[in-house]
Amino acid sequence: MKIGIIGAGASGIMAAIQIKRANKNIQIDLFDINKSIGKKILASGNGRCNISNTNLSSKNYIGENKTFCQYALEKFSFKKFEEFCKSIGLLLDIKDTNKVYPLSNEAKSVVSLLQSQVNHLNINVIYETRIEKVSKENKKFYLKSKTKKFFNYDKVLISSGLSAAPQLNSTQDALIIAKTFGHTINLTYPSLVGLCMNSNYHHKLAGFKKEVKLTLLINTKIKDEKQGDLLFTKYGVSGFAVLDISQKASYYLSLKKHVSIDINFFPNLSKQELDKKIKILIHSNENEKLSTLLGGLISNKLPLVLLQECNLDLNIKAKYIYEEEINSIINKLLAWRVTIIDTQGFKHSEVSGGGIKTSEINNTTYESKKCQNLYFTGEAIDIVGYRGGYNLHFAWASGYTCAKAMA
Ligand SMILES: Cc1cc2nc3c(=O)[nH]c(=O)nc-3n(C[C@H](O)[C@H](O)[C@H](O)COP(=O)(O)OP(=O)(O)OC[C@H]3O[C@@H](n4cnc5c(N)ncnc54)[C@H](O)[C@@H]3O)c2cc1C
Repeated sequence: MKIGIIGAGASGIMAAIQIKRANKNIQIDLFDINKSIGKKILASGNGRCNISNTNLSSKNYIGENKTFCQYALEKFSFKKFEEFCKSIGLLLDIKDTNKVYPLSNEAKSVVSLLQSQVNHLNINVIYETRIEKVSKENKKFYLKSKTKKFFNYDKVLISSGLSAAPQLNSTQDALIIAKTFGHTINLTYPSLVGLCMNSNYHHKLAGFKKEVKLTLLINTKIKDEKQGDLLFTKYGVSGFAVLDISQKASYYLSLKKHVSIDINFFPNLSKQELDKKIKILIHSNENEKLSTLLGGLISNKLPLVLLQECNLDLNIKAKYIYEEEINSIINKLLAWRVTIIDTQGFKHSEVSGGGIKTSEINNTTYESKKCQNLYFTGEAIDIVGYRGGYNLHFAWASGYTCAKAMA
C-alpha cells in the first residue's frame, strides 16, 4: 500500500510514524513545503513548546461541534502521549498548571527526536514541495506540485494545517483541496492573537502590563470572562488574558458583530476596598495633583488617561475632587470599556479557528465522508484549542487516530 501525507507538521509526522509502526511494509511519501519537518513545533511556546496538557477534554476546544475531538482525545490520552514520548526518548516536564513541556525546555529536542524516528522508520520525506492539487481516478490518488506529479497513492492524508503564521509557510491549501472533493469550509479566523483597539489613548499606554479581569461583550451581551495578564501595545491589547478571549472576539469580528471588552483593573478588590484605597491616597497629600497620587495605585502611565476618560481636569488637585468624581474613577477602573475593531491578523496569530466542517469527517477515523480513503487531521479541521498545549495535543491525537484507521 502507498500513502501520501501532505504536511510534515505535528499531525502529519505523528500519523506517518504510527502508520509505519503498525505496518512497516506501507510505503509513505511525506510532503512539506519547508526544508525540514516540524517548523511550527519549533516556533511553539516561544521555542519551549507547550507540547500537551494533562487535563484533556473537548471543553478546551472551540468549533461548530467541539465534541468532534473527544474520541481522539480519549484514544490518544495524555498517558498514551507520554508513552509515545518515552518511546522516542523524549522526557516531559509536567507543570502544576497541567501544561506539559519537554524536560529539555527546548522545542528543538522534540523535532530532532521526531526526525530520528522518521529516519529510523524509512519514511520518505519529500521536502520543498508544495502539493497544490489532489485528484482521484480509478481508486488511486494523484498529487501535483507546480513542477511535478506523484502517482498511485491508495490513501491520502491532508495534514497541511491552516493560515496562522504564514511566515512559517502555512497555507490554506487543505481547504482548497477539501473543496475540490465537495467539502464545506467554515469561516476561518485568526485565534490566540492580539486585539486592535479603537481609542485615542492606547498608544500612550503601550508597555503597561497588569493582571486584570476581562469581560468580552458581543453586541453588548456578555460572552466570556478571563482573568490574567493584559498588556497595552501600540495597536491595542495583548497578554495572556487577551489571547484567551481573542478566540471568541476574532470569531465574532469576522461575523461583523460589535465587539468590546470591559477591563477590571482590580479584579481582587471590591468597590468599597478600592474606594478606601483611593481616599487614603487623597488624604495623604491633598495639595498634590490627583494624577500624581493615583500613580501610587496603578502604573503612572494610566492616571492622565483615566482622568481624561472621566472628563476630569488633568491638573486637578486632590482636595478639589468631589465624591461623585471619585465614584466615576472607581467605576472606570472596575469596568473600563474598550471597543475592539480588529485582530492582529493571521501573521501574528498562533492558530486558525474555523476550517473543514467536522460533520463531513468521520471522527473515529478522520476519513472524509465525501471521498473514500481521503483523510484530514490537525488544524485544517474546524477545531481550535485554548492556550495551554491543547492545539498540539489535538494535532498529535488526530494524527494518531487517523493512522490507526489508515494502517
Ligand atoms: C508561534 C506559534 C506558537 C505556538 N505555540 C503553541 C504551543 O505552545 N502549544 C500548542 O499546543 N500549540 C501551539 N501553537 C499551535 C500549534 O503549533 C499548531 O496548532 C499545530 O502545530 C498544528 O499542527 P498541524 O499538524 O495541524 O499543522 P502544522 O504544524 O501547521 O503543519 C502543517 C505543515 O504542512 C506544510 N504545508 C502547508 N501546505 C502545504 C502543501 N500544500 N504542501 C506541502 N506542505 C504543506 C506546512 O508548511 C507545515 O509544515 C503555536 C503556533 C504558533 C504559530
